[in-house]
Amino acid sequence: MPLVKAEGVVLRTGNLGEWDRLVVILTAGYGKVRVIAKGARKVQSRYASVTQSLTHIGFTAYVGGKLPTLSQAEALESFRPLREDLDSLAYALYMLELVDISLVDGQPHDDILSLLIACLHILSHTEHRELLLAFFELRLLARLGFALESEACPRCAGRPGQHLVVDLPGFPCLKCSQTEGPRLQVRVSDDAMKLLRKLNGGDWRAVESLCAPVAGERELAAALDSIVFAKLEKRPESHGFLCAMRVDARSKGGRT
Ligand SMILES: [Zn+2]
Repeated sequence: MPLVKAEGVVLRTGNLGEWDRLVVILTAGYGKVRVIAKGARKVQSRYASVTQSLTHIGFTAYVGGKLPTLSQAEALESFRPLREDLDSLAYALYMLELVDISLVDGQPHDDILSLLIACLHILSHTEHRELLLAFFELRLLARLGFALESEACPRCAGRPGQHLVVDLPGFPCLKCSQTEGPRLQVRVSDDAMKLLRKLNGGDWRAVESLCAPVAGERELAAALDSIVFAKLEKRPESHGFLCAMRVDARSKGGRT
């Protein structure tokens, strides 16, 4: 049986039979793949910890039969700070699920893998989790072909309007918005619009230097939730956990 060597981030796992684990990995070069980790649910298994979600792994697998089977795996990065902090974990798991449900198996997307790994590293130390998620979502949407245009009307390239048309996604000018019909439109404040432009265009360091609380942050997060749900045509399961952490952070007078 041919042996394949790859690396990637474990997006999700599932149970197979009595002791095996199905591991869904976004790999470099091969896209999203499913592999079987034999015996991984036994406590003493060499695969037990390395095949958990949110692990950057290097592995080799035998390709044959229905699904490839792991023959060797090692953790390249386990993102421990994210596992030890519930707030950060909620954001990390949400990012993993967004990637998982955005991609079909076997379609290489190294750009999304690099984005995911970079954002997981930043999430390990940033205070701006909500802004980082927005930064991540905007780039993920762009890489999937749904870039959110904030500088011009997406229909005529004229001056953008102030109403976000969620499933476009974009800000049509007044004239074009009259032809959009009854699509879901959200009015966006000047603060949220400024923040969106900063997140859309700049690099992360420009965002990281903003002082909390950042005006428009919550409004923009809600708008991006709507866009993501519209594009994915579903609400990710981990969104409930993320919302619980957002509410908790606000009740503690936190940043989000
Ligand atoms: Zn227009």
